[in-house]
Amino acid sequence: MSYDGEYQGYSVRELLDMLADCQGVDRADNRIEFCGWGDYVGSVLDRANYESLLETFGNDGFYINAGYHEYHALQLVTDQREPMFPDLYGGIEEDETIRERLVSLVQIFSRLESDYPLISDEKHSEVLDTLAEEYWDDCLWREIPDDLHDMFPDDIQPGEEWAQLRRLRNAYPPGLRGHDDVFRDSYFGYEGNEWVAETATNVVNKKHHEAVAHAAYRVFNLGHCDCYVCQEGTS
Ligand SMILES: [Zn+2]
Repeated sequence: MSYDGEYQGYSVRELLDMLADCQGVDRADNRIEFCGWGDYVGSVLDRANYESLLETFGNDGFYINAGYHEYHALQLVTDQREPMFPDLYGGIEEDETIRERLVSLVQIFSRLESDYPLISDEKHSEVLDTLAEEYWDDCLWREIPDDLHDMFPDDIQPGEEWAQLRRLRNAYPPGLRGHDDVFRDSYFGYEGNEWVAETATNVVNKKHHEAVAHAAYRVFNLGHCDCYVCQEGTS
């Protein structure tokens, strides 16, 4: 965490007031903008920002709101009379750690006002990866047998692709299943994948069918894969 000398002279109280004045904080309830997300609200950018702030600062100085439909938000605690954290601001005027955190927050929020609202690209990819893997493990893998049958009606016989997938999944100890799944690895290893977040809790792979075909060629030994990644690799 960088500590900018620019804010050297500011007290904790002054920094809190600066934060409350940032566009990044909703004046009505001190809710932090750009980081509220849930099933029906916010985007994957908001979710990534939420994770970034929690990772950097822990819970100190924040409320976490969690409500219906997985709603998450962060609320800045700027009121010393705040009943839920009676001790949080007791004596913090002298607390250098809190001061440094507040300076970092001011820096983040000033950047968000002038830049596009994403704190960390790395965190954004991390959240996308996690969503993609959850999507596969929760439901996507179940659709693969039907996809395979549609795409390879002559090469993989009806019923056979399901049995083959089951065999692959069952070839590993249950604790590892979902991590060492051969077809899953080939699918995720497809370099043409385009995971796009539709909401903060939902992603789709725009190149799903290409990825299934690519994985099928490899896993079921169907010959030479004709996807663009494999073609480029051989030309
Ligand atoms: Zn391929």
